[in-house]
Amino acid sequence: TRQFELASRPEGWPVAENFRFAEAELPTLNEGEILVKNLAVSVDPYMRGRMNDVKSYVPPFQLDQPLEGGAVGEVLASRAAGTEPGDVVVHGLGWREHAVLPAQAAKKVDLSLAPATAYLGALGMTGLTAYAGLLKVAEFKAGDVVFVSGAAGAVGSLVGQIAKQLGASRVIGSAGSPEKVAKLLNLGFDAAFNYHDGPVKDQLKAALGDEPGIDVYFDNVGGEHLEAAISALNPFGRVALCGAISQYNLDPASGNAPSGPRNLALAIGKQLSIKGFIVGSYAQYADEYAQFLAPLLAAGKIHSEETVVHGIENTAQAFIDMLGGANTGKMVISLD
Ligand code: NDP
Repeated sequence: TRQFELASRPEGWPVAENFRFAEAELPTLNEGEILVKNLAVSVDPYMRGRMNDVKSYVPPFQLDQPLEGGAVGEVLASRAAGTEPGDVVVHGLGWREHAVLPAQAAKKVDLSLAPATAYLGALGMTGLTAYAGLLKVAEFKAGDVVFVSGAAGAVGSLVGQIAKQLGASRVIGSAGSPEKVAKLLNLGFDAAFNYHDGPVKDQLKAALGDEPGIDVYFDNVGGEHLEAAISALNPFGRVALCGAISQYNLDPASGNAPSGPRNLALAIGKQLSIKGFIVGSYAQYADEYAQFLAPLLAAGKIHSEETVVHGIENTAQAFIDMLGGANTGKMVISLD
């Protein structure tokens, strides 16, 4: 079988040479384990953090070892009661063609309801991040003015659409290209801007229309975006700190220091709530989310956007391209 290994740790932006696509032997199955042939694998921004040798909420990837990540695959062989060949499961050993893992670490999914890739996006961890971050962390309520950054991405595109469905009075998104801005308006965002076009602070102000400020900021980006949002938040505004992708590929050794926010003190007088979260801590809302989403997806009221790259050998490049903004919606690799 073939798999991606971490050949070296990226300094700043990852490059192709940081990854090695290698042949590997599959281990024999122990009691309780399954052999899975992957159908789709995920590349996600958080994986960039795991490529650094630092302590975090997930352990770092090890040099010369296979990378890991979300995947959906078909069971080829099973030594676990309750799991049969032909079952399809979502699990954590992506970046490879085949995986051997305990059946307990895999969850069955139904491909008659949705394609494999959807379980890595809207129906998976990505979708729950959007839902839990908006409703449970930022405590969104109808009538709120919402701003989401990284809005054309996997999480962001769902945040904006969910907010709209639940009665936001205005949803504003930022993204990195005119095509993405057009896409956001198509998805029902009330206003959208390209953050490359000028200071986020000015563009956010213009996007407010008649509104005095924003009530909720869903932060995927950090840095200048977070600073601009803090300035634009109404009293008692809420921020869900989901990600800070503008900071992930900085290389302080070459003079690229982290940036912003410099105006955090405004949070005191405005009595803002600014809360970081990890989706894994909100797993108890997975069923609630699935019940919320299914009818909206079926009715075409929420669109599950994906950028699909074909071929396991293209996983590392898809990861690099995703960090650079090549994707709209969820970046996934299909192994068909
Ligand atoms: P996306 O689909 O949004 O892909 C990443 C996007 O980030 C790119 O498409 C690019 O779009 C944008 N981007 C890259 N660099 C910058 C930059 N310097 N400034 C602004 N935007 C940039 O990924 P996800 O939806 O999977 O993840 C979005 C965020 O949510 C990430 O920060 C991620 O770490 C976080 N996350 C957090 C979780 C949690 O549990 N807390 C769980 C899942 C995700 P563009 O063209 O617009 O620049």
